Amino acid sequence: MVSSPVDLLREHLPVEQESVVLSGDVKTGLVLVDVVNGFCTVGAGNLAPRQPDKQIQEMVDESVRVARVFCEKNWPVFAFLDSHHPDVPEHPYPPHCIIGTDEAKLVPALEWLENEPNATLKPKDCIDGFLGSMEKDGSNVFVDWVKSNQIQVILVVGICTDICILDFVCSTMSARNRGLLAPLEGVIVYSRACATFDIPVDVAKEDKDLTAHPQDLMHHVGLYIAKGRGAKVASEVSFGA
Ligand SMILES: [Zn+2]
Repeated sequence: MVSSPVDLLREHLPVEQESVVLSGDVKTGLVLVDVVNGFCTVGAGNLAPRQPDKQIQEMVDESVRVARVFCEKNWPVFAFLDSHHPDVPEHPYPPHCIIGTDEAKLVPALEWLENEPNATLKPKDCIDGFLGSMEKDGSNVFVDWVKSNQIQVILVVGICTDICILDFVCSTMSARNRGLLAPLEGVIVYSRACATFDIPVDVAKEDKDLTAHPQDLMHHVGLYIAKGRGAKVASEVSFGA
């Protein structure tokens, strides 16, 4: 039997995942990373899926599900929205999520979040949302959100597992380790509510401008590195009494 590349990867770089039950005993905040049209809605832009994408759709569905529960419970929610000025490109990516366009808006299934009082929406022009939360005066919108809500654990969902999510998780773990994020203790990456984009190897071979980015492999690699930095990875998230 021939193992698929992702099976080989799972064998050689195992990522232990757990089922997490969130209860009100530990103050938990939800961080949504870039669940915007420009990355999630078919045909919405240069970095949007070209055709329906199962992993991205499941990520959106699960992100909406947990966001609804957080809002019903009035738990804090923080949503990054990738947003760029048209004159400031973000290398190495083509123009995407330009401010004021639909690309930089939450996907239709999450638009209701804009009106939720417990939700903080943060446009960012940076791959790493932690750095993208820094204001000119040196304050940090994400750090302030953690501290003002006294958040002990964050649940991270969104896109892309190996890019914006990973960079945000790495910076957040380092900031926590340096004592900059008290009382934050834990970071949980919810794997089924994370996704990345797909450029299969055979597609990249046909186009010199493309770099291969096989979706299942890179999603797994993102989770593996996040776990290596100290995040928990959850395969299931449910809510206790
Ligand atoms: Zn961007």
